[in-house]
Amino acid sequence: MAKLSRRSFMKFTAASIAAAALADKQKVHAEKGDVDKAFPMMTAGASTAYGLCHFCSVGCGLEVKIKDNKVISTEGHPDHPINEGSLCPKGRSMKEMVNSDQRVTHPLIRKPGSDKWEPISWDEAFGKIASKIKEVREETFTKTVDIDGEKVTVNRTDGIFSMGSAEIDNEEAYLFTKFNRAVGIHNFTHQAEI
Ligand code: SF4
Repeated sequence: MAKLSRRSFMKFTAASIAAAALADKQKVHAEKGDVDKAFPMMTAGASTAYGLCHFCSVGCGLEVKIKDNKVISTEGHPDHPINEGSLCPKGRSMKEMVNSDQRVTHPLIRKPGSDKWEPISWDEAFGKIASKIKEVREETFTKTVDIDGEKVTVNRTDGIFSMGSAEIDNEEAYLFTKFNRAVGIHNFTHQAEI
């Protein structure tokens, strides 16, 4: 077994104490959400963008570090009033989702009888969705219902369910609700509710 001289022992102890102090400091910065101070080498040369986690309705603020056109870190935004720098594991793993090679970035269609998904353009996808909504609405539209022998106007479609998103903001949520009401969709909710 190699012998440790007194000098080497002192050096080793000092290095360990310095490393522990650095790790402590790093932990404090990381807990405060200051990713630049916690991981200066990782974030050197990276740009910063801010956004919201879309996984649930809490709406935590994100600080996103981007380098070479790739997201290299997603941390809680330290100044965001909701999460104050913290994130749950779902928000924390956003980086993996953004960079995943399995991420779907364009509409896909599985044609009748086919066993595979094929990419289509956004225009084609919007066109198909619009005509399907029209078709189902016309098939399932109810103008009036009978309540206690009285005809009551409802103007609704029972054949469509519409789902909101935790990523949309107030104005988008307003438009989403307006759209549903205009079409006559009364079965709608928010993704965070289910
Ligand atoms: S980080 Fe977690 S709690 Fe915050 S919005 Fe995302 S999923 Fe919800």
